[in-house]
Parts: sequence; C-alpha cells; structure tokens
Amino acid sequence: MPAPALELHHSIITLKGVGPAIQQRLAKLGIVLIQDCLFHLPNRYIDRTQIRHIGSVVAGEVVLIQGEITQTHMAYGKRRQLLCHISDDTGGLVLRFFHFTHRQKNQLLPGKTLRCWGKVRSGRQSLELAHPEYQMLAKDKEEALDKTLTPVYPATEGISQFKLRALSTQALHVLRDDARGLPELVPQHILKKYTFSTLAESLCYVHRPPVDADTDALLQGRHKAQKRLAFEELLAHQLSLRSLRANIKQKQAHAIASGRPPAIEQFIAGLNFTLTQAQARVIDEVVTDMSKEKPMLRLLQGDVGCGKTVIAALAALYVIHAGYKVALMAPTEILCDQHFTTISQWFAALAIPVVLLKAKQTEGQRQHTLNRLTSPQPLLAIGTHALFQEHVSITQLALVIIDEQHRFGVHQRLTLMEKGSTGNHYPHQLVMTATPIPRTLAMTLFAELDISVIDALPPGRVPINTTVLSNRKRADIIQRVDNICRAGRQVYWVCASIENSEAVDLEPAEEIAALLTDSLPARRIALVHGRMKSSEKEQIMQAFKLGEIDLLVATTVIEVGVDVANANLMVIENAERLGLSQLHQLRGRVGRGAYESHCVLLYKAPLSNMAKARLSTLRDTHDGFLIAEKDLQLRGPGELSGSRQTGLPVLKIADFARDAEQLPLACDSADDMLKNTPETANKLIKRWLNYHHDFVTV
Ligand code: ADP
Ligand code: MG
Repeated sequence: MPAPALELHHSIITLKGVGPAIQQRLAKLGIVLIQDCLFHLPNRYIDRTQIRHIGSVVAGEVVLIQGEITQTHMAYGKRRQLLCHISDDTGGLVLRFFHFTHRQKNQLLPGKTLRCWGKVRSGRQSLELAHPEYQMLAKDKEEALDKTLTPVYPATEGISQFKLRALSTQALHVLRDDARGLPELVPQHILKKYTFSTLAESLCYVHRPPVDADTDALLQGRHKAQKRLAFEELLAHQLSLRSLRANIKQKQAHAIASGRPPAIEQFIAGLNFTLTQAQARVIDEVVTDMSKEKPMLRLLQGDVGCGKTVIAALAALYVIHAGYKVALMAPTEILCDQHFTTISQWFAALAIPVVLLKAKQTEGQRQHTLNRLTSPQPLLAIGTHALFQEHVSITQLALVIIDEQHRFGVHQRLTLMEKGSTGNHYPHQLVMTATPIPRTLAMTLFAELDISVIDALPPGRVPINTTVLSNRKRADIIQRVDNICRAGRQVYWVCASIENSEAVDLEPAEEIAALLTDSLPARRIALVHGRMKSSEKEQIMQAFKLGEIDLLVATTVIEVGVDVANANLMVIENAERLGLSQLHQLRGRVGRGAYESHCVLLYKAPLSNMAKARLSTLRDTHDGFLIAEKDLQLRGPGELSGSRQTGLPVLKIADFARDAEQLPLACDSADDMLKNTPETANKLIKRWLNYHHDFVTV
C-alpha cells in the first residue's frame, strides 16, 4: 500500500531524516509543520558559480578563488597553524588552518592548484581565508563550477545546512502535490497591480533559484521574488497592527479628568528646572488622550536625554490623582532603580507612594509590594517585566508606561495590556523610546500607535564633542582618561559585547579592563558586563553613580538610560561594529552635566567606506532623528541584525532598510484588504504572525 500523501500542515517529523531529536532542534527555528520549512527562507546564497580574481577580493567577502600554491609553512603562535600561500595572475593571499591533519599538510605543496571557498579577512601581512573549504585540482583539467546559487539557511546548533537543504527539498515536493495547502492570500488584483508572482512560485524560486536567475539581485536580497515575499510579510504586519489598534480602541478605559489639580502645579513648581515647550506639548497630548473613555495608545519618541522621565511622572500623577494605579515598566533593574530613586524624590513632597518590584528582593519586601498592588490605594509601581508575571496582579490599573520600548516585543506589550485589563476595560498605554525614527516611517511601523515627539533638548546642554580614532591611538586616550579622572570627573569605556561567535576579533571587555588597570594603577576601575548577575551589575553601577569608581569598563549593558552627570568622557571600542542609533544612545550617557563632554569612537583599521561614512555621521550630527535616518540609509544589504538596535520591529524576512519601497505598497494593500476582504486579511496575519494570533482578530 502506498504511503499516504503528505500535506503541508503535517508535522515536520513526517519528513525523511527527522526524528524526535531533530524535531526539537527545528522547533527552535520555528519549524514545526512542513509548511514552516517553506517560510524558513535562505538568508544568503553561496555563489560558487564563478571564480573571482584574487586581486579583486576584499575583506568581508565570501568568495570562490582558484590559484597555485607558492609556499606552505607552519607558524607557532598561541596555537600551531598551517599557512599556505596561493596566487593567481592578479594577486595572492594566505590560507590559514588551525586544525589540520598530517595528510593535509603533506598534500598542500607548492605547485599544486587549489580551488578554495571562504570568507576573506585582513591578516597581519595580507588578506587571508581562515579555514577555507578547498578542493585540489588536477593539472590542466577543467573542473566544472556549480550552475546555480546554493541557498544558505539560518541554522541552529545540531542542524546542518545539508539537513536544511534536504528538508526544504522535501517540503517543496509536498508543496507541489498539496498546492491547496498553501492558498494564495494576496488578492489577484493586488498581485497584478505590482506584477508579483504567486506565493508558491516565489517560494520555489528563492529556495531553488534557477540557472538563469539574476544572481546579483538574489545575493543582495533584491530579487523580485524576494521582494514579493517581503511585501507579503510587511502586509501581514500592517494588517495585524491596524486590526490590533481597531480592537483595542473598541475597549473601554477609565477617563482621567484633564483639569490641572493643585498637585500637578505643586509638582511642576517643585522641579529644579522648567519644562520645555516640547515637554509641555507632549503632556497636553497625553492628558487629552487619557481624558477619553478609549484606551490611549501613544508612542513618545524623544532623543536620549530630552527628558522623558518627567513626562512619565506627570502622566502618572494625573492618573493617581484620579484614584487609579500606574505601572511603569523598564527593561533593566538598573533603570528601574534609577526611576524609583528619581520619581520617589519627586513624589515624596506630594505623599504619593511609589513601589518597586524586582527580581532581587527579600520575600518579605516582595510580599509587601504585592499586597500594595492589590490594595485600594492609588500608587505608582515600577518594575521590570517581573511586574507582569502571572502571579502578580494589579487592581485598578489605569495607565501602563513602557520605557525604552525597543527592548520589548509587540508580543510582550500585548500580554501586558491583557494583564492590565479587567473585563472590557483596558489601561491607557504610553510607550517611550529614545530611538527616534523619521515620523512618516514611524507612522507606518507603529501603525497601532499615535505619536508624540519631544524634538528639543533642555536648554543649556553643551554638545558632546565626538572624535573618531584608530585604536592604535589607545595609549593617548588612556593618558586623557588619567587627566580627566585627576580632575575629579568620571569615564565610561565601552566594549562591544560579543554576541556572535564569529566575531572573535572584538576586543573583549576583560582584556581592556586588564590593560587599563595596568596602565592606570592610581585609578579606581571596575568592569560590568552582561554575563554578571544583576545584583553585581547594580552594585557597580551604584558605586559609579556615587563616584566611588573613576573608570567604568562596560559592555553595551549601559546603553539604556543610566544617568551619571559627573561622567564626561566616553570611549567606545570597535565603534565600527555598532549600529549608529546604538552609538548615539551610548554617547547620550555623557553630556548630562554642565561640563563639556567628549566621546571617542575607536575603530579597528582598516575601515570600509561605509563604516567611514557611518562614523563621520555620528561625529558631525547630534540629532537623533537624522542619525536614525542615516542608520537606515547606510546599512549595507545583509546587515539584517541591526533592526533590534534601531528600535524597529523585528520581522522574519523583510528588512526595513532594504525593503523600504515595499512599505507604501503594503499600507495601501492593507487598507484595501481590511475594507474588501477582512476574512482573508485575518488568514494572512495568522500565516505570518501566528505567535500572537490570539490577540489579533479583524
Ligand atoms: P531621557 O529622555 O533620555 O529618559 P531623562 O528623563 O533621563 O532623559 O532626562 C535627562 C536629564 O535631563 C535628567 O537629569 C532630567 O532631570 C533633566 N531634565 C529633564 N527635563 C528638563 C528640562 N526641561 N530642563 C532641564 N533639565 C531637564
Ligand atoms: Mg530615559
């Protein structure tokens, strides 16, 4: 009896080569059903269809080259290595092997011809390929090249490219036999209008590009088939945000009186600064929203240091005065502590209670806080996402404020709204972000939110003097650090954290800390990094705030919101590796006091033209909006990981920089579908965003 035909909605385990262990690993990639395999798209391709001239390759490229071995020798550094020099008519480079067999060593002899595949990097003397794949060629015998691009899939531990290719091949076969399993959901007239092919055709194309495919376009992610898929995802994203908004706006909220109670006047009078015009305007917008019986959904964008905290406090004050509770959620404990200290001081004079809920608390403290959250007394509760864990309940919650929104996903925000709801009542929501993005783009990306902008810094800020230097100048900078500390000021030294294992040549924070400790014996130096326990981190940050530490070496954990006015120099290592918006955020940690502040961006030579342009933008510009815009423009194709840092939503395949031109099409089509085919719209949302389909109904 023939085996029953497979269908796209069957479990992945029904495919050949998948047992329970592989099934579990695939689940980590979001692959559960056969059809998930189809949406697990290649994030790049290997081009082994042509051989590059060695003289034309540059660091960072992944290339296929062919040449003759001129010399092979061993090197004895920290580790034993085999170095093999090869060249063609245009130039030469070095193959570097850390692991090699006796046989390999005897094989790689001068005069032999090799075809190699690998990533080019700049070595000490010349360009290198570290651990290339290679193939020994017989003299004078033509060796055929691959005819099509080979897809490379996002992988996970224990799943090889070979396996992923085998699975996508099977999934494509199932698609062919079960075409109805993956219906076309984009209406025909829309496909026609933009000359897009069907979903099934586009998927087949990107998984297995045909021989005559436009290789360059595919490698850059700009092929029409890729655009078609990005379009569909952006469309699904638009649909989900719009229906989310519509859904929430149908709910009830507690209307908060917009008249100014005396407590507000007292609060404002008690501040040691005057609110800027921009701050006053934003407060008006927030108060007007909250005076309605519909939940507020407002995003507050404002450059780092523009004074968003006081807006949060004021909004909270209105709501507390009206007899309700407010929750303020921040992404790190350090930030929660800081908000707690600042706002408690502000609210003390008004006798308004502020409570803090965090992971590191005694059971007694915790219980006390939990009791307060359900007591009838209005208050402000500050916490990390611990605030919204299952066993925590908050009664009479009328406003939720989220600081540094880019650290939370849409999904987390939704859970939070649900959590704050009672019956048909939802809390008002104010979402704050320091990663400003151009307004029109923001309106599209955060289509579910209304947008307020603080577009001016408080008066009297001295702009931060930014310089870009090679890290060979590190010794000079260390001298400068010494001078600054002697004058009683403090310094941050930031090292890009090691997030992916490929980036082995980042200066690890520990090494830098050791170097600085050696060079500056008279200075009090401490290191904070992401792998420390949060209690340890906090202790160090606290000591830095109190001036007990002169020089703080840190990974990017300090990025968000920490306020130490006495620090007026920041040094950033490997600045060329960080996103512009992230650098701008980091830099915003200094320049908070009255002293002139400096930021030194150290880079590791050589710098690509793109990196040069990026760093000069940062040197010459202090406007977060402009920087964010440049960040989008100057991100090269393939630099997909940047989105988390820029505060843009993280999508599966579409990229907001590369696919920007698809956005208006997606917006128009979303309007069209919501009006004419809402049922299909819902299916499309589920296809692409199934992780939160519980929340989204059209
Ligand atoms: P961010 O928007 O980055 O969260 P903060 O709220 O931390 O900024 O504010 C940065 C600093 O500016 C704080 O020390 C705050 O007290 C101060 N500040 C806020 N508003 C004003 C203002 N209108 N005038 C002067 N200083 C202000
Ligand atoms: Mg802040």
